[in-house]
Amino acid sequence: MLFRKGMQLSFELEDGYRETPEETFWRVYRQMRLKVRRSPAEVRSVRLRWRPYANSISTLRLRDGEMHIGLSEALRHAPDGVLEALAEILISKIFRHRPAPEFQSRYRVWLNSPPVRADLERLRQSNGRKHTSGSAGNHYDLQQLFDDINTRYFHGAIPPVSLAWSRSASRTHLGHWDPAHQTIVLSRFLDRPDAPRLAVEYVMFHEMLHVLHPTEFENGRRKVHHRRFRDAEKAFEGLTDAKAQLKRLCSATLSF
Ligand SMILES: [Zn+2]
Repeated sequence: MLFRKGMQLSFELEDGYRETPEETFWRVYRQMRLKVRRSPAEVRSVRLRWRPYANSISTLRLRDGEMHIGLSEALRHAPDGVLEALAEILISKIFRHRPAPEFQSRYRVWLNSPPVRADLERLRQSNGRKHTSGSAGNHYDLQQLFDDINTRYFHGAIPPVSLAWSRSASRTHLGHWDPAHQTIVLSRFLDRPDAPRLAVEYVMFHEMLHVLHPTEFENGRRKVHHRRFRDAEKAFEGLTDAKAQLKRLCSATLSF
C-alpha cells in the first residue's frame, strides 16, 4: 500500500534528522491525499501554534488554503510516533476517512499514561481555568457533566475535548460532536431548571460515545450510530427514562 511505503520513508531519513511537527502534518496530509485520491480543500501550507490549554489537546482547521493546527503544550515532548498518530487522526477527519486503529491506540496509550495525565493536570491548574470558557451555563456546567460521566462510565478514558453551549436553543438538535474541532456542543435549550439532570446527562453521554466510536463506513455508506455505538449506549443507567424525559421536554422528534 502506498500509505505504508510512505510511512517507511519517514524512517529512512538521514541519521539525526527529525521532522518538525509542521513537516509531519504536511507529510501525513500529502500521503493521505494520495491514498484517498481526493482532498477536502487545496492545502498549500501548514501553520502550527502551541497552546497553553489543557482542555483542548489539539485542533485542526482549514482556512484559505492553510492548515491551522493548534497543539497543547502537553504535546511538546511527545514522541515522534505519537505526533504522527495524532496527525493521522486529525487529518483523517477532514478527509472523512477512518484512521487506522493502530494510530488511535498509539495516541490513546500515550494520552492515558500517568506522566501525560499529570502534565495535563499541571497545565490545567497553572492556567487557573479548570473550565472551558463558556462551559458553565445558567443551570448546568458542561465541564462538570463531562468529568462526572467520564469517571462514572469511562474510567476517565475520554480525552479532554472542548465543550460549548450552542448559540441557538434548538429543541430538535440537542447535541453534536464536532470531530474537526474536537468539540462537544449541547443545545442551549437544555440549560434550564426544568430540564431533568438525567436527560441532560444522557445527551452528554451520547456525544461522548461519539468521541470513542468514530463514524464507520459500510459499503461506502457512513454509519454514525452503528451497532457498536448502539450497544455501548445501552450502558447508560436510566436510558429509557432519559429518552422519555427528553421527548416530554422537547415535544419534538429527537435527533442528535
Ligand atoms: Zn449521535
